[in-house]
Amino acid sequence: MSVIAPQPGIMDIELYVGGSSTVKGVTEVVKLSSNENPLGTSDAVKAAHGKTGHNLHRYPSTDHAALRAAIAEVHGLDAERIICGQGSDEVLQFVTQAYAGVGDEIVYPEHGFSMYPILAKMVGATPIAVPERERTVDVDAMLAACTDKTKIVFIANPGNPTGTMLGGNDVARLADGLPEGCILVHDGAYTEYVQGFDGGASLVEALDNVVMTRTFSKIYGLGGLRVGWGYASKDIIGVLNRVRQPFNLSTVQLAVAEAAVRDQEWVTKCRAENARLRAWLAEALAEIGVPSDTSTTNFILARFADQAEAEACDDYLKAEGLIVRRVTGYGLPNCLRITVGDEPSCRRVAHTIGNFKVEYH
Ligand code: PMP
Repeated sequence: MSVIAPQPGIMDIELYVGGSSTVKGVTEVVKLSSNENPLGTSDAVKAAHGKTGHNLHRYPSTDHAALRAAIAEVHGLDAERIICGQGSDEVLQFVTQAYAGVGDEIVYPEHGFSMYPILAKMVGATPIAVPERERTVDVDAMLAACTDKTKIVFIANPGNPTGTMLGGNDVARLADGLPEGCILVHDGAYTEYVQGFDGGASLVEALDNVVMTRTFSKIYGLGGLRVGWGYASKDIIGVLNRVRQPFNLSTVQLAVAEAAVRDQEWVTKCRAENARLRAWLAEALAEIGVPSDTSTTNFILARFADQAEAEACDDYLKAEGLIVRRVTGYGLPNCLRITVGDEPSCRRVAHTIGNFKVEYH
């Protein structure tokens, strides 16, 4: 049988490596590898989910008007400038598909979210990874890397897997300094973990070349629901809607996400609990000789002496049923990314890394 060749470049796309939830031979696993909310979802969201099963013979709304209105109301935004997708991943894909193609360049920080180069290659564009400074976006280096072929610049702010944050003035300087016709995507998947942060919404209001993306997968505890959204100028949203499938979100997704965004009490509670346990975990790790940068998210980037120690620790944790994330693929081979779980999980991961440190040295 002959092999049917895909489009040029497709086989250069590296498959996304997700967080596994199983360890061979271990029955009780603690998963701290995908930055999920250990508190899950609120009762209001569970109730909304329970009610969604009755109208499934009807197609869902194509324009997501009710969900967009709820998001707009809660965040004080213009509903006409919002677009919703299958996770923020899909919104990032809309932007890439609509604004970049063969021969174009897409610039992102070297430790940026792993979907950025994947998305670039999906449309035949060239991904350009730019060195960071102290595991934070280097605005000057990003601007220097842009050429007249650069169509999109991606940054996650706060960053994943770094957990660090770029200040508002620096983000504005980046957006302002981009070449004509280049879009800055300000990926705000972890926005809600930063008290009072608008995720880049005010920058979208001020500049026409900025797209903000957000998700229900993190603080809302809805990674399995797959809903995210974007905010941009009316012109950009009008473009993005042209590459969106008409029924890209189901009736269930729309109803559950709407209930979730209306339940800001849950968000406040989760943010406080995360901050408390994040501080505890960072300190516990520092005490056993595992430093990390100050995290603004729901994970900690734990630093080891070298790649060998990080990998040995990962293997040790796995054997104990604890799954964390190796970030070698993000250019951080001596680090492990550890999600801030519930209190027993935080205590267990810190205790197990402590045992590893004693045995390894
Ligand atoms: N951006 C960043 C920085 C992320 O960490 C993630 C999830 N890992 C996403 C976007 C995509 O999230 P989702 O598609 O679940 O909204």
